[in-house]
Amino acid sequence: MLNYTTKEVADRKALTINPAKTCQPVGAMYAALGVHKCLPHSHGSQGCCAFHRMFLTRHFKEPAMASSSSFTEGASVFGGGSNLKTAAKNIFDLYKPDIIAVHTTCLSETIGDDLNALIIDIDVPEGKYMVHCNTPSYKGSHVTGFTNMVSGFINYLSKKTGVSNEKICLMPGFVNPGDMREYKRLLNAMKVDYTMLPDTSGVLDTPMTGKFEMYPKGGTQIPDIIGLGDCKKTIALGLQTSEPSAEVLRKKCGVEYEAMPLPMGVEMTDKFIMALQDLSKEEIPFEIEEERGQLVDMMLDIHPYTYGKKVAIFGDPDTVLGIAAFVLELGMIPKYMITGTPGAAFEKKANELLEKFAVTDCVAKADTDLFLLHQMMKNEKVDLLIGGTHGKTIARAEDVPLVRMGFPIIDRYIHSYMPLVGYKGAIRMAELITNAIMDYQDSHCDEKDLEVVM
Ligand code: SF4
Repeated sequence: MLNYTTKEVADRKALTINPAKTCQPVGAMYAALGVHKCLPHSHGSQGCCAFHRMFLTRHFKEPAMASSSSFTEGASVFGGGSNLKTAAKNIFDLYKPDIIAVHTTCLSETIGDDLNALIIDIDVPEGKYMVHCNTPSYKGSHVTGFTNMVSGFINYLSKKTGVSNEKICLMPGFVNPGDMREYKRLLNAMKVDYTMLPDTSGVLDTPMTGKFEMYPKGGTQIPDIIGLGDCKKTIALGLQTSEPSAEVLRKKCGVEYEAMPLPMGVEMTDKFIMALQDLSKEEIPFEIEEERGQLVDMMLDIHPYTYGKKVAIFGDPDTVLGIAAFVLELGMIPKYMITGTPGAAFEKKANELLEKFAVTDCVAKADTDLFLLHQMMKNEKVDLLIGGTHGKTIARAEDVPLVRMGFPIIDRYIHSYMPLVGYKGAIRMAELITNAIMDYQDSHCDEKDLEVVM
């Protein structure tokens, strides 16, 4: 790779190299899979749908079921209305979902298909549902698509009856099924009744039974999505991912919300637990206090290895901010924080975080790519790179250890079962980070020093 100045690379307007994001529909498909007996439907060409399914399957190592409007030349010229009509009939007849969640693609957005009008015209069987959201990939990212799909479910389904169901609505953010399980464990421990939308646990982390289930047991139930309008409060985790959908529910049904960062690291998890305690008025159970204490003890143990280490972090905005918050607690310096998802809020929140820990001379940038990150790392090296698989070649080129966290991780297994949220998640992050630093030291030290370590 040639050495450009960071300014030259940052000022590039014409092209993205090694993007730190993917298509909007990938996120929409993921959100739709988190609804029970829902079939995500891609309104566009088969190629888009195949790519998006493949992307999810490579990360989760599970089949990602979805259907397509299968546009051909005719639909590209005259619009995809008749394709959608035929698709809906075939899908309800053959695959028997309870709900079809349609998302658009670049092609249908460019044609200008009016999905609202098209869906009104479709003969949806009694007791079944069809919802949609717009996901043009030439703006936003998979995170935007995820948010839009969650908002789509609320727009179509959620209702306010005026009688509270005494539940909270939990919006989990773009996280793995392992994280969603961890949220549920904490909510149950705190005795808080909830509906989580979406919930991909039990869908994309199913056990081997020897039998293919088109619709696994997990996912948010449709009556629970309808009932979101009667929730007493929304907790929206992930300011960029969840707050817009919480606002949609507030506007539609008057459910007030509290938006907070993903509960990653000590302080952010404390905040989440305190918010739950505020709702339940219950004592915090010993098992949670114990986990927190274990985490703090581990942080003290590993401090000599983490303190002062410079780290570059890339990925989805809320995840990058969560990881940054935790590495700062470990005494590390998040030298570079980048996301491919646009949004000024990311840079603002990142800078607030840096200011709080009195860390200076770091760069936080949204709507950019890994080419810029690589250039910055060339100009000033870091000790560690944290992000998804697409950082692999940069890590190798710069001889920096890569800790795989976030989305997508396509060259490793099991990660999506392991939470990064909560105290348990922070313990896992601490383990991954420390082991990467120590493995690097072991592989770069003299043989005699290695013997001392052993
Ligand atoms: S056409 Fe758009 S939605 Fe389809 S794969 Fe390409 S960028 Fe993604």
